[in-house]
Amino acid sequence: MKSDLVGMKSDLVLELFISNEEKALNFFRCIRWSNGVYCPECGSYDVYKRGYVYNKRVRRYSCNECGNNFTDFSETIFANKHLPLGEMFYIILNQDKKSVNQLSKELGHKWESIDRLSKEFKEYLEKNTKDPVLSGKNRN
Ligand SMILES: [Zn+2]
Repeated sequence: MKSDLVGMKSDLVLELFISNEEKALNFFRCIRWSNGVYCPECGSYDVYKRGYVYNKRVRRYSCNECGNNFTDFSETIFANKHLPLGEMFYIILNQDKKSVNQLSKELGHKWESIDRLSKEFKEYLEKNTKDPVLSGKNRN
């Protein structure tokens, strides 16, 4: 029963986010920037949009306070990773249930890429227990 539920959830995520990267990114932004976009460096909300990075998927911002440039993914588990966000969600949700081989087949990526990502995610999740996936560095 429990595993059916988990299976259903990840199917839903797969459907929602893998098929629609914009939806995945909007979901991510809603959570990360729930109180508005702030600078991860100094905490200021005095920031402005500066276009996009990673194939125009991820928003880039600059801070008026300290001049820091950052993106939606800065200081999160997703920074400097080039897979679609929906696929990264999928890997995180399924990495304890599916083999690297299975994930790489399902997502159509090289075994090596999935293996590396999966290890990085695991390491990150073990190190950061407080809202590890979405919140980035605690700014308080
Ligand atoms: Zn700043």
